[in-house]
Amino acid sequence: MSDRTFHILLLPGDGVGPEVTAEARALLEAVGPAVGARFVFNEGLIGGAAIDAYGTPLRDEEIDAALASDAVFLGAVGGPAWDNLRGEARPESGLLRLRKALGLFANLRPVRVFDALVDASPLKPQIARGADLLVVRELTGGLYFGRPSERRTDEAGRRAIDTLPYTDHEIERIVDLAFRLARQRRRKVTSIDKANVLATSQLWREVATEVGERYPDVTLEHMLVDAGSMRLIARPRDFDVLVTENLFGDILSDEAGVLAGSLGMLPSASLHGEPPTRPGTVAPMFGLYEPVHGSAPDIAGQGLANPLGAILSVSMMLRFSFGLADAADAIEAAVEDALAAGYRTRDIGGTATTAELGAQVRERALARL
Ligand code: ATP
Ligand code: MG
Repeated sequence: MSDRTFHILLLPGDGVGPEVTAEARALLEAVGPAVGARFVFNEGLIGGAAIDAYGTPLRDEEIDAALASDAVFLGAVGGPAWDNLRGEARPESGLLRLRKALGLFANLRPVRVFDALVDASPLKPQIARGADLLVVRELTGGLYFGRPSERRTDEAGRRAIDTLPYTDHEIERIVDLAFRLARQRRRKVTSIDKANVLATSQLWREVATEVGERYPDVTLEHMLVDAGSMRLIARPRDFDVLVTENLFGDILSDEAGVLAGSLGMLPSASLHGEPPTRPGTVAPMFGLYEPVHGSAPDIAGQGLANPLGAILSVSMMLRFSFGLADAADAIEAAVEDALAAGYRTRDIGGTATTAELGAQVRERALARL
């Protein structure tokens, strides 16, 4: 079992990044021996912390270290101290460079309304209760990268154009991943598009249907993005895995995130490459894992940050990059236990510190392994 050594590049970043990633790291270090795995952390700087130390938001050394690792775990970047910087000098440009270098094609944002936190959700309890969904967003195509993309001014006035390209391969890769993920969950995929208007969405729907035929045990549903965005807040329990293109995914993942009641609760994973050849499996895929929230400068350094977004992000790392599903399950159950026992940081209505909530999850995860 001791050959199960996993190398993690840890980039704590700025603001609350170091506080929340410290809790997640301590959790992995505690859980490792219980599951016969060793987690080796290599720590690097990114964002404002890297600007202060090296004069640049991300060095080539960190990119090389990321590429040589089994997974990357990131805190958050940015803050008021670096707000006057522009372009490539900004803390956020370090993260953009890292994401680009890693060739990430899928962004996964799970959203769960824990029973203990139903009252933190902005939705009525009877609507929010039990919601547990996963937004899978395509990252390499769509309006963000289509050419031409330009603005110009001529005699006729100001005009601008963006282009929305997708290939069948790009669609197949992300939809196939969604089906693999659905097999580990409640076996339902909702593919979101705008097929009544967009040619790319018609191709999307066609390819999604073809992929779905390979997964007869998973239900596939197509939904228009306008209907889907209403459904997300009207009947969030209708969803298991949502899969969609880049811009729709950007919007819907933020919309879905609100259900959980606090930005501090939300984890994310961005995955690289093709899924393993064995159909229906996800691990091992290389990934960048990070809480959804930013550096939260208003609460940094005070022990107020909710560490659960970071903790649930390393749980995703165990599941998708290391194939340690039992450990991931134990961590998620431990989060649920700690919340049910009343341990909460301020953002979710409690008085626990970052470290107290982290320790509660650690203890409860170990008790389950
Ligand atoms: P970005 O830095 O990506 O632009 P942002 O500025 O929109 O993000 P955050 O830095 O995440 O957002 O902060 C938004 C609000 O959410 C702040 O009030 C912050 O205190 C709160 N918040 C963010 N993360 C956490 C956390 N882990 N725990 C508690 N509160 C948080
Ligand atoms: Mg911010």
